[in-house]
Amino acid sequence: MPPDSQPPTLVWHRTDLRLADNAAVTGAAEAARGGTLGVVVLPEDPAAPFVLAPERASPAVARAGARGAPPGVPRCSPRRLGHLLQAVAGLRDEWRAAGSELVVLRGHPVDCIPALAAELGAREVHTAPCPAFDELHENAGVARGLAGHGAELRVHDETTMIAAADLPFGVEELPEVFSNFRRLVERACRVRAPLPVPVIREAPAAVHERAAERSAATLAAPDLADARAAAAAHDPRSSFASDGARAAGLARIERWFWKDDRIARYKETRDGLAGADFSSRLSPWLALGTISAREVAAEIRRYESERTANDSTYWLFFELLWRDYFHFWVRRWQGRAFKASGVLGRTPCGAQDREAFVAWCEGCTGEPFVDAGMRELRATGWLSNRARQNVASWLARTAGIDWRWGAAWFESHLIDHDVGPNWGNWQYVAGVGNDPRNRVFDVRGQAERYDRDGAYRARWAGG
Ligand SMILES: Cc1cc2nc3c(=O)[nH]c(=O)nc-3n(C[C@H](O)[C@H](O)[C@H](O)COP(=O)(O)OP(=O)(O)OC[C@H]3O[C@@H](n4cnc5c(N)ncnc54)[C@H](O)[C@@H]3O)c2cc1C
Repeated sequence: MPPDSQPPTLVWHRTDLRLADNAAVTGAAEAARGGTLGVVVLPEDPAAPFVLAPERASPAVARAGARGAPPGVPRCSPRRLGHLLQAVAGLRDEWRAAGSELVVLRGHPVDCIPALAAELGAREVHTAPCPAFDELHENAGVARGLAGHGAELRVHDETTMIAAADLPFGVEELPEVFSNFRRLVERACRVRAPLPVPVIREAPAAVHERAAERSAATLAAPDLADARAAAAAHDPRSSFASDGARAAGLARIERWFWKDDRIARYKETRDGLAGADFSSRLSPWLALGTISAREVAAEIRRYESERTANDSTYWLFFELLWRDYFHFWVRRWQGRAFKASGVLGRTPCGAQDREAFVAWCEGCTGEPFVDAGMRELRATGWLSNRARQNVASWLARTAGIDWRWGAAWFESHLIDHDVGPNWGNWQYVAGVGNDPRNRVFDVRGQAERYDRDGAYRARWAGG
């Protein structure tokens, strides 16, 4: 058959919104005989109330109104959705530059992906999600739907810096404690070189046109325009303007690594609260996969060989290992990553006090350091690690509120939401994860130490 009459192969993007260093794109391009197209599925109803993960899998519980769901938390805030749209726009440019197209759909993947494959006659769909609880359910549903049309889902395992296949243990034997994971991995593994963008065969012209029309129709929805505006709005109190597209992430690396040499001082500055450069700020790009952790690791190595290698350059690598650890952690623990009792099976302080929770969300607890953090999060969709630890500890340990509600608020609002790092860090802070330190933060002491002159509290909480 000539290429024009061959069916296209699809790449279903999830948190891998890039063409470079993407095993799903490479796998699809190698398999394709009739062209390769990208697909993204935007959430159908981002404003719908948040339902906790194990309950999402049970339609009966969800229908009954999801017991214990956090009050007033949408599935995805407009700012976070807008950030995703910026990343998708950048990805669409990449597919077009490669001579193909990105199909942007809206709905539930279990319905949308098999329907699109059937319409285009695609036989293979390639994807590379972090295989956490929801994602595995989606994979199973999509695979079933595809099988009904004689098509197949090919899942690639590629969200981490260290490939799962290179680990010296199975994911189900992931060490309980991070330091043991790090020791074993550093001894046994090396980071593979990032994959180049493969040669992508163009899809037939008619398919191409239909894909472009479909995407334009999806992207014209009024609520998406609101989300775009929310993401573009810049709060003057913030020193950083975020943009979800890959090009902006690459520009950030160029400046923070190469122009300003901030990576060389990272270990001393990383506990900062305010300012654009105390940490890398790469999390929004890493979370959506517009830039891969392997690409960042390769850049660290290049910096170390061309400029300097010191504790700070190592520390950025160390933090990427934490990211890997939580990606493997959420795979290992599946539904337990989202259970109130956590992986330790402990009974947490789990009050479901709606009023106190809403006061925390709105930054009106009366505790200035906590309020500053929560207002920054609401206004920008981002928060430093130091502030995250404090606001989370205050909610889960001081106010004694169900930590899952806090994790849900973070998931809804963080532009860098990443399932393993978010739910894993929350379990640590709440004392139900495997943190050997099991610390409760003294937020006033922390404020005195890290915000000595009160500038951060004054900026965000007005005093
Ligand atoms: C309660 C709580 C919730 C969190 N939720 C998320 C989340 O949803 N998404 C997210 O990416 N990070 C999360 N973190 C981890 C951390 O706060 C952010 O990764 C970091 O603040 C992002 O800023 P940066 O890119 O400048 O990080 P840098 O300090 O420059 O670190 C570089 C990268 O390393 C990774 N990293 C750093 N610290 C951690 C960590 N503790 N755990 C896992 N990965 C880490 C991130 O990918 C980060 O971009 C959470 C932390 C806490 C305490």
